[in-house]
Amino acid sequence: MEENIYTWLKGQNEAILTDIKKIVERESPTLNKELVDACGEEIRSLFRTYFDNEPEIFPRTRFGDHFKYTFGQGEQQILILGHFDTVWPEGKLTYRVEGNRAYGPGIIDMKGGLVIAIWALKALKELGLPLQKRVVFLFNSDHEGVASPDSRTLIEEEAKKSVAVLVPEAAEANTHALKLERKGILRYTLTVTGRSAHAGNSHEEGINAIVELADIIQRISSWTDYSSGTTVNVGQVKGGTGVNVVPQTAEAAIDIRVKTMEEAKRMEGLMNSLQVRNSEASLEIQGGIVRPTLEQTNESKKLFSLVRDYGEKIGYEVKAAAVGGGSDGSFASALGIPTLDGLGAAGAGPHAEHEHILIDHLGTRAALLAYLIKELAGGA
Ligand SMILES: [Zn+2]
Repeated sequence: MEENIYTWLKGQNEAILTDIKKIVERESPTLNKELVDACGEEIRSLFRTYFDNEPEIFPRTRFGDHFKYTFGQGEQQILILGHFDTVWPEGKLTYRVEGNRAYGPGIIDMKGGLVIAIWALKALKELGLPLQKRVVFLFNSDHEGVASPDSRTLIEEEAKKSVAVLVPEAAEANTHALKLERKGILRYTLTVTGRSAHAGNSHEEGINAIVELADIIQRISSWTDYSSGTTVNVGQVKGGTGVNVVPQTAEAAIDIRVKTMEEAKRMEGLMNSLQVRNSEASLEIQGGIVRPTLEQTNESKKLFSLVRDYGEKIGYEVKAAAVGGGSDGSFASALGIPTLDGLGAAGAGPHAEHEHILIDHLGTRAALLAYLIKELAGGA
């Protein structure tokens, strides 16, 4: 059976790529519901073609509709998690192939992985493997930029029912490794309010919000500690109305990454205790932990070993990695559900202009995932 999976999938690179092209060309910027829904429909048309299967749809007004498919039956459940929105504004990148690389918006994050997972299920179906557990494939639409505020409850509900959660997010860029650890994320908006004044006539009456904010930025930036893996990124600032006005307000958007939940709590405490130096200015702190850490456990290491050992059999080296980027797998992992991430496409450049996948890995990556599903769900 194992050999059959690989034999069946390894020659399918071009067919898998054809499906990826269809999904990638349906661009789906997170906050454009109309486009995201059109992409969802394209995905559903693949399921109709391959499985004659309709999903349960979770209609949404702000984001695209989420939807989920259920395969097989049984008491226990395996969950596959994937988002189909991308960070890319419409028309920014176009799909193209150069040699072994296919480029496009969201192609590695994570439309390539979604199609790989679809092909893994297709292989199991074509090979006639019965599923002894339910396999639920949940598609959410609000991941990028906003950290899945709307689908989080849905993800957690499905994760709680599952014995394992598999996430076909991109493999690690250099080694094509699976991801056993991901950093947690805190996000904040800091708003300083001072007092405006004419820069020439009454400078002394003003309280400069930008200067106060700059002082806070210096302090929080010094909390970055590469040795412990904690980073504080001030990603956006705005403030002031003109060069000749003492600015009344200034605002900064902050992204903090941490390796452990303990550190997440510590950073949360530090952020909440921030104060402006000038007592006449005020500071508003909005935000908190938006994504827990994905921490490896004995159970997740077992999932990894299954894939690594199968990789050895088919001559494909499978490594494990710890990364800084977040995924929805963290919500499942934080609930104590064994979670394996990075099961999607090999390639590089998520969120970057050179975002691409490696075509010659597609069938093999689908075989790794199909084998894992078979091991978890196919056993008697
Ligand atoms: Zn992603």
